[in-house]
Amino acid sequence: MAIQTDTQPLMANGLPMPADDLQVIKNGLIPPTPHSDIDPSRLTITLVPEDKLKEIPHADDLIFGQLFTDHMLYLEYDPASGWSAPEIRPYGPLTLDPASSCFQYCTNVFEGMKAYLGPDGVPRLFRPKLNMARMAKSAARVALPPFDTDAFLVLLQKLIAIDARWIPRARGHSLYLRPTLIGTRPGLGVTASTHASLYVIMSPAGPFFRTPAGISLYAVSDHVRSWPGGTGGHKLGLNYAPGFHPQRLAAEKGYQQVLWLLGDTITEAGAMNFFIALKREDGHLDIVTPPLDGTILPGVTRASVLSLLNAHPSATSLPHLSNSLRLYTHERPITMPELVAWSASGQLVEAFCVGTAVVVNAISRIGWEERDIVLPSYGGDHIGPVVRALWERLVDIQEGRVEWEGWSVTCE
Ligand SMILES: *Cc1c(COP(=O)(O)O)cnc(C)c1O
Repeated sequence: MAIQTDTQPLMANGLPMPADDLQVIKNGLIPPTPHSDIDPSRLTITLVPEDKLKEIPHADDLIFGQLFTDHMLYLEYDPASGWSAPEIRPYGPLTLDPASSCFQYCTNVFEGMKAYLGPDGVPRLFRPKLNMARMAKSAARVALPPFDTDAFLVLLQKLIAIDARWIPRARGHSLYLRPTLIGTRPGLGVTASTHASLYVIMSPAGPFFRTPAGISLYAVSDHVRSWPGGTGGHKLGLNYAPGFHPQRLAAEKGYQQVLWLLGDTITEAGAMNFFIALKREDGHLDIVTPPLDGTILPGVTRASVLSLLNAHPSATSLPHLSNSLRLYTHERPITMPELVAWSASGQLVEAFCVGTAVVVNAISRIGWEERDIVLPSYGGDHIGPVVRALWERLVDIQEGRVEWEGWSVTCE
């Protein structure tokens, strides 16, 4: 990076460098060295000694995101030198300046991914390049430094291979990965973060909701998750904190998650994408999900569900669904009055939410304006044929029992 004295230099993310960082560089405290991107060949690995490794609890006793594996991946970005040599090191606390950008202005980006153990005992990731691309877009949205996502994925795979003993074997269980990028510029100026830390932590996970019969949603419109031109379409920490209060109100009313509305239009459920299945007059099904208009997080599971539905029955047969059944997918807005009408007429046969954590989860009822929309029951629970088929096929692909379009990627 060339340092000029008359015009303000640019950081790697293309923004002008804030004055205090510039001062540091001008004073010669940080030598202007060539920028480096993430380089897996510079990886250093510090392993936890054999006798200090954590004990792994039984798969049935896992609480989502409470326990972390022995190791983490860690890198830092400095505006003068670029990305540091990557480290895989024992899991542990970070030391950060209290004025860090991430604490003050929420320059926090994250991803949610899972590693699965295949029948051959080899760990696998599910469509990881989609998560990497989304993380790069999220980083750009809050002006955090860009990084080589392919190089980052190589390091992620290495971390998974090192902590592979943590991947639970039971069906539907996995190792949840949390890649995180935070702004670490120490300073209160309301400006882009010149410095950053990028790390990955991992936590063994069982099925996310322990209510297989279906989850209940409470539709709210007085608290809004996302809006046109906002950040709802990016995985940024700042999108989630404002949801905790409404989530608590929904829980007090006896519902498990919030159904987010914009006016009377449905956007998402909790941190999951929303789908419904409608019975058509010809006996086939319309499967509808809201369009990616910037207010919806573009889920990897959402995209995968749409692909699998579109492939039935010409390219694949979804388990237990008849080959004569046609599934017509639609990405179009869904309003609450429409949902009420489809429920009353008997057209609404299934509703479900999808995301990495839950995979596919049936919805049992939706509370809205003092009434409940109750979804049909299928022999005692709300798991209809579409939910059952999608869950089974996705988990089979993720766990490497069914090969589909190269979606499952091994880590060795
Ligand atoms: C992460 C997330 C999803 C699901 O995305 P996946 O890539 O399928 O895990 C949906 N909605 C929100 C708000 C999310 O944060």
